Amino acid sequence: MCPCSAQVPSENVLTARRYLILIYRLWSGVRVQCVARNLVAVGLLFLVVAAQASTPPRVSVSIAPLHSLVANLMLGVAEPEMIYEATQSPHSGALTPFQLRTIVNTDLLIWVGPELEVGLSRLITRLPQQAVALTLHDYDAGMELYPMRDTLFDTHGHWPGHDHDHGDTDPHFWLSIENMTLFARAIANHLAEMDPANADQYQANETRLIARLRALDLHLSEQLAKVGEVPYIVLHDGFQYFDRAYSLNALGALVLNPDIPPGPRTVANLAEIGKQQDSLCLFHEPQYSERWMQPLTQAIPEAGVGQIDPLGANLSPGPSLYFDMMTALSDNLLACFTAVEYNLMQGQP
Ligand SMILES: [Zn+2]
Repeated sequence: MCPCSAQVPSENVLTARRYLILIYRLWSGVRVQCVARNLVAVGLLFLVVAAQASTPPRVSVSIAPLHSLVANLMLGVAEPEMIYEATQSPHSGALTPFQLRTIVNTDLLIWVGPELEVGLSRLITRLPQQAVALTLHDYDAGMELYPMRDTLFDTHGHWPGHDHDHGDTDPHFWLSIENMTLFARAIANHLAEMDPANADQYQANETRLIARLRALDLHLSEQLAKVGEVPYIVLHDGFQYFDRAYSLNALGALVLNPDIPPGPRTVANLAEIGKQQDSLCLFHEPQYSERWMQPLTQAIPEAGVGQIDPLGANLSPGPSLYFDMMTALSDNLLACFTAVEYNLMQGQP
């Protein structure tokens, strides 16, 4: 036996390494020079190291819609973790030990920022040292970001006593498909940089995702163009990006900060504006109490009532959630708009 025979790596490691060792051992039965065998040993070791270096990053995403888009970008590579369930409001949700563990074990954390996930913002210091956290402003490659509104939107004037707990930038940017194409591009580039071995897969996924997003945008534009003029009031101001993208006629929101129930003055102002409309829809959300909308449904009994969801509460997390959520959002708006328009045409209350 050659006295300089190479050290064989430990048995109790990755399967890939075991295969390499097996090949090496079979091959070593053949009579060869020590120098050549050592060179091959070094080569095999290099391959093992390269294989380990290309392990995909562990990615965690804060909310279901963004998680869905990242899951699309990582198809064929790995699955990202999701931190907040879509039934849990990221504005106020306290984190469980499981969620904490996910955060602590991540290489890349994708979230919106302290404007939205208040609880998460307090834990960012617990991220491992080498981990990267990306927030809204890191995705901002030409995104259109809007300032928060008051509870009465646009031309209805400013009312004293409102608060801006969301921060100055409206954080619900995922409801703009245009913004999400920019988000997809930014994240795909980031993943490719972190994990060059899978860069081609990320780029191919990005191209496919952006094409699907454009098709969805076109579908929603066509669908909402028919009845987009019907005025409506929402529970919390989480839909600005959606109503601007499709030129909808949102009048106001009961709350800006959904941690605090609506104030009587806001309710009175919205009731007054709502009563002046020929037709009106009121929308509550699955993450917050339906009771908050009751003073308005009682004040304006002829208004249509529906539910809209900016997070995908009843949908399975994963690649299709974003598409299903946006379609459901449009369908639910449309159902109420169509019903109140029909009633108006029939001359019924
Ligand atoms: Zn919100």
